[in-house]
Amino acid sequence: MDSASKQTEQRFKGIPASQGIAIGNAFVIRTEAFVFSNEHIEPERIPNEIARFHTALESSAAELQQIIAIAEKEASHVAPILETYLLILTDETASDSIRRRIQRGFYSAESAVMQEFDAQKQFFTLAKDPILRERAVELDHVRDRLLNGLRNRSVSHAEAENTIIVAPSITPTDLMLYNQVGALAFVTEVGGIASHASILARSLSMPAVIGVRNIAHTIHTDDLLIIDGNAGLIIINPKPDTLAKYQKRKLDTEENKRKLGKLVTEKSVTLDGHSVHLLANVDSIEDVTNAQDAGAEGIGLIRSEYLIIQRQHFPTEDEQLAWYNEIAERMYPNHVTLRAFDVGSDKYAEGLPHEDNPALGVRGIRFLLHRKDIFKLQIKAILCASKHRNVRLMLPMIATIDELIETKEFIEKCKSSLRKSNIPFDERMPLGMMIETPAAALMALNFAPHVDFFSIGTNDLTQYTLAADRTNEYVAGIFDPFHPAVLRLMKTAIDAAKASSIPVGICGEIAGHAAATELLIGLGVDELSVTPPLLLELKKRIRKTDFLKAQTLATMALRANSGSEVRKILANRKKK
Ligand code: PEP
Ligand code: MG
Repeated sequence: MDSASKQTEQRFKGIPASQGIAIGNAFVIRTEAFVFSNEHIEPERIPNEIARFHTALESSAAELQQIIAIAEKEASHVAPILETYLLILTDETASDSIRRRIQRGFYSAESAVMQEFDAQKQFFTLAKDPILRERAVELDHVRDRLLNGLRNRSVSHAEAENTIIVAPSITPTDLMLYNQVGALAFVTEVGGIASHASILARSLSMPAVIGVRNIAHTIHTDDLLIIDGNAGLIIINPKPDTLAKYQKRKLDTEENKRKLGKLVTEKSVTLDGHSVHLLANVDSIEDVTNAQDAGAEGIGLIRSEYLIIQRQHFPTEDEQLAWYNEIAERMYPNHVTLRAFDVGSDKYAEGLPHEDNPALGVRGIRFLLHRKDIFKLQIKAILCASKHRNVRLMLPMIATIDELIETKEFIEKCKSSLRKSNIPFDERMPLGMMIETPAAALMALNFAPHVDFFSIGTNDLTQYTLAADRTNEYVAGIFDPFHPAVLRLMKTAIDAAKASSIPVGICGEIAGHAAATELLIGLGVDELSVTPPLLLELKKRIRKTDFLKAQTLATMALRANSGSEVRKILANRKKK
């Protein structure tokens, strides 16, 4: 019987730090507790301790330099992170202070190093900002490297070949070396998705799950593990059917990657180098995985109301936070755009008052400002998820400046209540608005100073411009996003965004329409956000577009008399 069938399967959930699936045996590293920080020495040992410190410093610096050289070849953008370590290590002020602690305090070299780094760390450990807290981790890594040097102890990386590293924490330098010898993935007890080890894991395409408490004491070396870096899942001693399922999923992913080929990693730029950011529209966690597989540069629209639709009730703040966090963590460092609940009209009208014309009634922002109890929970959950620094908030169905100002004041109140409770969030979380009413498009220049980005919702913009219900088949012939009236409103909003130096994207269905790509690029959009299955086809078309010619085409379309004339212009263009 193999080990997979002997033991009980256990599952642990952590933070998905780097995507991909790995299956292999564990290699557990348990860092031993280092010396006490108050070990005194006899005065005659001082010269010897100082010499030991210098040798450790020199050997650690030489080791780091070697690793930086490897990083420059294999993951060049990580080299600067490692250089920071070298700077901390060779900082003259710190070295002087360590020497003083040995000479005047009669401390051993180990104790002097511990004291110096602990003193430096204090400020950073207390910081609310995760980026500053990461600085404390850097100091720990450098300190441990020095302590290892003092004890002539070097970690053997070779044993990690074909294994999954499990450790309380991991330094980017060790990770670099483990990757060199062919480690498959890693799991740690601590760390954030913005930590240097996570950044490095993503750039090395090494699956990683982090932040799993006590995992290095739960897993034993040689345990069979499955690491699902997309879901942040660790499975210990998987049952044969779990193992078979993941082996198949791994093969399918590899096969899919092969099929998609180079396009996934290629840039989304036109022939003449104009870049158009490719984002995904998502309604579920599965969509997020598909978006990642297709190389989305971020999420341009999360229809958060799907949470309500799935549950058939308004989710609690905690339920929302879990969902928003999961999406933000999976997509990190790429941004995710959380649109506030767009309920009403054809989307979840249960419990809302009956309206004769719901599409023109209490929908989107109107509903949210009406039900501030619901809005408050959502804003707070979104703000809490924003601590990752990759969350943007977007408002649906804005028609008047007053709505926008009232919403901003309300968000400010939610922020100050979080501040009072000492709950961290991104003070600079970008706020954007949908341009999906003709009023918003026409007044875009007035709206722009109040927001950080625009996203054009052509589905509603078309419905409201042409007065044709998007769900009514009798007027389906009138509902036409290619109609010049819609295009001109889009152009007005795009020009206003440019004049105000804020980005503008399109997240309505037209963004993924094969015939529309060149036209939309020509209109000047910065971002296109589409459902994940359309991402790569869209990228292919972007890469075949000539920006200058696209602008000429857009000018012609804007002058047309009807939607069918626009379609003719686009079709003729294709034939040429
Ligand atoms: C739109 O209106 O174009 C849009 C993207 O929003 P929704 O389809 O969710 O109304
Ligand atoms: Mg809409």
